Amino acid sequence: MTSSYSTDIVIFGGGIAGLWLLNSLRNQGYNAILLETGKLGCGQTLASQGIIHGGLKYALNGALSGAANIISDMPARWRSCLSGDAEIDLRGCRVLSDHYYMWSDSGFRSKLKTFLGSKSLSGRVSAIDKKDYPDFFKAATVEGTLYKLPDFVVDTNSLLEVLFEKQREWIFKINPGSYTFERNDSGLVNAISFHDKNTHFTIEAQRFIFSAGKGNQQLIDDANLREPKSQLRPLNMVYVKAKNLPSVFVHCIGDSFSLTPKLTITSHTDANGETVWYLGGEIAESGVGKDADVQVHSAQKLLTTLFPWIDFEATQFHCFSIDRAEANVNNNYRPEDAYFIEESNVLVAWPTKLTLTPNLADNITKHLATNGIIPTNTLTEQDLRTVLEPAKLATSRWD
Ligand SMILES: Cc1cc2nc3c(=O)[nH]c(=O)nc-3n(C[C@H](O)[C@H](O)[C@H](O)COP(=O)(O)OP(=O)(O)OC[C@H]3O[C@@H](n4cnc5c(N)ncnc54)[C@H](O)[C@@H]3O)c2cc1C
Repeated sequence: MTSSYSTDIVIFGGGIAGLWLLNSLRNQGYNAILLETGKLGCGQTLASQGIIHGGLKYALNGALSGAANIISDMPARWRSCLSGDAEIDLRGCRVLSDHYYMWSDSGFRSKLKTFLGSKSLSGRVSAIDKKDYPDFFKAATVEGTLYKLPDFVVDTNSLLEVLFEKQREWIFKINPGSYTFERNDSGLVNAISFHDKNTHFTIEAQRFIFSAGKGNQQLIDDANLREPKSQLRPLNMVYVKAKNLPSVFVHCIGDSFSLTPKLTITSHTDANGETVWYLGGEIAESGVGKDADVQVHSAQKLLTTLFPWIDFEATQFHCFSIDRAEANVNNNYRPEDAYFIEESNVLVAWPTKLTLTPNLADNITKHLATNGIIPTNTLTEQDLRTVLEPAKLATSRWD
C-alpha cells in the first residue's frame, strides 16, 4: 500500500540555503520539510571560509560594481540576526572575527588597487594606524598597509547547528535516486514518490525548492525541468595546521592585475585545539588541477614570502578540491545576487555566496506570497517520521 503525506513546501538540500529557507518558511507559518542526501553542510557550506563580505573584494578595480553594491548591506543584516533582532535568530552562532583585514604589500599595483578599492567603498574601509595593528601585523618584518573592512567571519559549524536545532524534527535523510517527481494533469510537479526496497510513499506539496548546490543539476534533470543552467567553478583549497599559529583574518592584495586577492586567510580551531589557517583567493583558483604536493608547495612558498616573520617549520599542509555551484545566467560569470527561478511548481535556487543567503530567503518569500502560496492546516508531515530517518550534521574537513 502507498502512504501519502502532505506539506506546503519540500526543500531539497541542507546547506546554508536549505536550512535558512526552512527556518524562514516555518517562522512564517508554512509547513516545510527538508530532505538531504548526505550530511547537512557537507557540500560548500562547511567548506566555505565563513566570511560575511561587505563588498570590497568586488570593488578592487575601483568601481562599485553591482555585486559590491548588493553585498554591502549584508554585514548589517547578518549582525542583526546574530544579535537575535531579526527574523532568523542566530544567537549561538560563533563569530570567529568581528573584523576582516586587508593587507597590501609594498608593490605599486597592489597599493593602487587597494586604494581604489577602498575609495569606491569610502567610509566603509579604513587604513589602520600602525600603533593600532593587531599583534600579528605588529610583528611584520615587511612593509605594507593594513585596512579594516566591515566584513566579519562566522563559524559555519555553529551557524548550521543553530539553524538545525530549531527545526531538526523537519529535517530528513533520503537516499540519492530513491525518488521520482510526479506531475498532475496540468503538467505541474505536485508530489515526490519514494520507492526504496521496503517502502513506497508519496509526499505532496504546493511547491518544491531545490537548494542542493552542486546537486541541483541532477535534481533539474530528475524533475525534467528546462531551466535553469548551473555552473561549477572549481577551487583547490589548502589548510594549514599547527598548535602555535596565531589567528589571522586577512585578504592579501597581490601585485598582479588579478582582481582576486592573492591570498584570503581565515583561522579556525580543529577538534584537537590546533589552529587551522584556511587559504582561499588566487592560490585556490590557480591551484585547480594541480597535484596535492604541487599545490602544497605553492602554498608553502606563498606563506613564507608574505609572512617571513612566521615560522612554518612544524606546520602540516593539506589540500582538497571543491566546486562552487551557481546559476549560469551571465556567460559563466558569478551572478551578482542570490538567484532562483520557478518552473512547474519547482523553485531552483542558489545563494551564490553564503553572505547572500538572507536575500535568497527574502526573494523566495516574496515570490510565494505574490503567487498566492499560503500555509495550509490539514497536513500530515509529522507522520513522515515513521518512514524517514533524521539527517545529521557534517563536520569541517580538518576534523
Ligand atoms: C571553498 C569555498 C569557500 C567559500 N567561502 C565563502 C565565504 O567566505 N563567504 C561567502 O559568502 N561564500 C563563500 N563560499 C560560497 C558559499 O559557500 C556557497 O555559496 C554556499 O555555501 C552555498 O550553499 P548551498 O546551501 O546552496 O549549497 P551547499 O552548501 O553545497 O549544500 C547543498 C546540500 O545539498 C545536498 N544535496 C545534494 N544533492 C541533493 C539531492 N538530490 N537531494 C537532497 N540534498 C542534496 C548536499 O549534500 C549538500 O548538503 C565559498 C565556497 C567555497 C566552495
